Amino acid sequence: MIGAVIDAPVCLWFIVCGYVWRNLVKKTVTSLADGRELIYYDSADDTVRDAVDRRPLGAVSTSSEIRRDPLLGDSVAIASHRQGRTYHPPADECPLCPSRSGRLSEIPDSHYDVAVFENRFPSLAGDAGRCEVVCFTSDHDASFADLTEEQAAVVLEAWTDRTAELAGLGQVTQVFCFENRGAEIGVSLGHPHGQIYGYPFVTPRTELMLRSARAHREETGRNLFEDVVARELAEGDRVVLSGEHWVAFVPYAAHWPYEVHLYPRRRVLDLRGLDEAARTEFPQIYLELLRRFDRIFGPAEPPTPYISAWHQAPFRAPGREDFALHLELFTIRRTSGKLKFLAGSESGMSAFINDVPPEAAAQRLREVASE
Ligand SMILES: [Zn+2]
Repeated sequence: MIGAVIDAPVCLWFIVCGYVWRNLVKKTVTSLADGRELIYYDSADDTVRDAVDRRPLGAVSTSSEIRRDPLLGDSVAIASHRQGRTYHPPADECPLCPSRSGRLSEIPDSHYDVAVFENRFPSLAGDAGRCEVVCFTSDHDASFADLTEEQAAVVLEAWTDRTAELAGLGQVTQVFCFENRGAEIGVSLGHPHGQIYGYPFVTPRTELMLRSARAHREETGRNLFEDVVARELAEGDRVVLSGEHWVAFVPYAAHWPYEVHLYPRRRVLDLRGLDEAARTEFPQIYLELLRRFDRIFGPAEPPTPYISAWHQAPFRAPGREDFALHLELFTIRRTSGKLKFLAGSESGMSAFINDVPPEAAAQRLREVASE
């Protein structure tokens, strides 16, 4: 089905996880020349997406393999085909910019709102999971923080829809939506984009969180995440931003120099559980957080490199009901021009040493609030 276009129903009401939310965007599902899926999310419901990928692409060859470490009990994806992937292409060869005559990219159309496609160089593929790329805007020189609230709302709808869709794939156990920003993080493409990994296993960090939540439940009868948020709100000195439906704080034992955790005030398991009020407020809160991150080190510094990571409950995992959707945003920059490297203690022993007290980090993130 090369270049086939399927128009998905527009503005449907979905009933997911007992909550009802309205799909405010138009979704168009099509495919690239090598058969990979491409999905457009548009804010205008009369948008027509019928451009065809005319590149002479060969079939995607992937050989992901999941190996279990017998000592740590965790899983490692071995993906040797990734060695040949695109690395820092010049801006006029960006594969995430829209196509124009004489220069065809991963997005056949000449403009888009949000576009998602299967990664041609996936870390996880086939039975080993799925990797997708999310292009936040067709503007190559923008960053997420430059988006309007309306654009950010479309991204949220795309993340939510991808979570719902990947939940239906038998091989996917956990959906991870994230953004790596900045060359310091190892980003190989400058175009504003994020990724979605559908893992075929529960990731080690999520396993640890579920274990802590289980122990807390047994000890106190309460939910760990709810208690953590309540403690941060009660102590207050690490709270960075407080909305009607979301709260952001630097955690008590932050691992990174500047690290913020963002929670919806009403606990939900994953993005599908957010109600309309939380969805509506999210763009304003998240964009403000990103803009503050860019101001931490002052106007003379290049944009702050960061990792923004959505934590969602894994599917079909024991204890998942005790999980809480939240976003963890952190930078590896610790001061002007200096990065926090994961050296001996962190890389060798997973024992973090953080030079910036969380209360001071929170104070700085309050000082750089938008006027
Ligand atoms: Zn680009």
